[in-house]
Amino acid sequence: MGFLDYAPAPESRSILALKDEYGLFIDGEFVEGRGASFATISPADESRIAMIAHASDEDVDLAVAAARRAYTKVWSKMSGRDRGKYLFRIARLVQERARELAVAESLDNGKPIKESRDVDVPLVASWFFYYAGWADKLDYAGAGPNPQAHGVAGQVIPWNFPLLMLAWKVAPALAAGNTVVLKPAETTSLTALIFAEILQQADLPAGVVNIVTGAGATGAAVVRHPDVDKVAFTGSTAVGREIARAVAGTGKALTLELGGKAANIVFDDAPIDQAIEGIVNGIFFNQGHVCCAGSRLLVQESIHDEVIDRLKERLSTLRLGDPLDKNTDIGAINSAEQLARIRELSQVGEDEGAERWTADCVIPDKGFWFAPTIFTGVEASHRIAREEVFGPVLSVLTFRTPAEAIAKANNTPYGLSAGIWSDKGSRILAVADQLRAGVVWANTFNRFDPSSPFGGYKESGYGREGGKQGLAAYLRPASAAPRAVAGRTDAKGEAVAAKKGGAA
Ligand code: NAD
Repeated sequence: MGFLDYAPAPESRSILALKDEYGLFIDGEFVEGRGASFATISPADESRIAMIAHASDEDVDLAVAAARRAYTKVWSKMSGRDRGKYLFRIARLVQERARELAVAESLDNGKPIKESRDVDVPLVASWFFYYAGWADKLDYAGAGPNPQAHGVAGQVIPWNFPLLMLAWKVAPALAAGNTVVLKPAETTSLTALIFAEILQQADLPAGVVNIVTGAGATGAAVVRHPDVDKVAFTGSTAVGREIARAVAGTGKALTLELGGKAANIVFDDAPIDQAIEGIVNGIFFNQGHVCCAGSRLLVQESIHDEVIDRLKERLSTLRLGDPLDKNTDIGAINSAEQLARIRELSQVGEDEGAERWTADCVIPDKGFWFAPTIFTGVEASHRIAREEVFGPVLSVLTFRTPAEAIAKANNTPYGLSAGIWSDKGSRILAVADQLRAGVVWANTFNRFDPSSPFGGYKESGYGREGGKQGLAAYLRPASAAPRAVAGRTDAKGEAVAAKKGGAA
């Protein structure tokens, strides 16, 4: 037995009490969807986990109507202090059911249990705790005195951090006094549905949160619904663009959290051991399915060979395999479709002339897997330097001077995040100042905190999530009139006149 061999230590699935079939969560109840249900599978072995309902346009109508009723009759009339109590309760229930949520997330998404257990689920709880504290302090959110909720929020999220993206959306929306219709990604609905059970357990009033599962068409029905006042989307830039077009001129508030192609810049005075860990965490955390992943390594030319040698050595120790095994570093790719995209872009990298190196991992027979891969000799014009691979693939470029590093880092259509590794604080501040990225990490990477706003420039979207900025996105100043939609009544039960652009 070699020193890197180890005994498997899988987390037990017995903590899960999964149903064979999940309905839609509308008006506080699980109900059948009108569309044909679909299977959610484990990407690690392609086995079926459960059947998931597919919401039709009529189902989305019912969900939005439930959210509107709950907004008008209950949620908008409740004090911030009382709304906060529900959020605190949800946070505590997430903590109580943390192990179950982590196992379900790893099973459905493919991410290693140590990540869902130690990162995703604790952050989910912290997001609800954080915004629970804000619910009675909205005057300080930066949206002026006595700010008002938008009304019904339509939210659509991706598959890479299913429960965490739900928390990023639902917690601030509820704290600000909105009600919600949420559409999870089609390959990862499971933890959203367990979260619906938590909402029942928390006695959240019916209709305050509604969860409609389904594919892109269901998401489109949510964001286009005339009675949705605020749209929040996290996902690809292509779909974000489509949503921006659909929402334009409707008077709906909109935030878009889209793709990224972050530069992780390593200067020659960087603490190399920490930088290697930071590079690994930056791109191989969550199989690289991270919008802010450090997918472009910019390394100073003088230390290039040393960094690459040490990186390869480190990657050779990573364990790829069963997401539920506590020793696993690299889990499964979330879907066959995503795996095909990673393979295609990696082939393009080779064809364009970059040099490919792949860690020597044993790939399981079943499921969707991609071993950690590095491309060296990448040029700024290569597709692997410009497009989001959204997988465990690192593109390495070099630079000689800080000015060249900044120019190369900013040479991207995206602007979500960046990392800087240097021993000199003054250099970090000077470089960070010139990076067109919403978040810049220094001597660390992929750190998240609910009090810290997150969001992008350019094609990475607009608006911020997290912090009071993320709360303000769910509020309108008291001076701004509510969005008017024909036939709708306001919080006092009075009819609101329709105005041009009021409906989609
Ligand atoms: P995607 O855009 O394909 O899907 C995201 C969600 O939108 C899914 O729920 C999907 O069903 C839904 N959808 C698809 N078509 C739609 C339409 N026409 N109208 C409304 N909804 C529609 O993205 P994905 O592949 O699931 O996620 C990966 C992408 O998400 C990557 O580009 C990644 O960078 C990005 N992402 C960004 C952030 C961020 O905070 N900026 C966070 C996580 C992921």
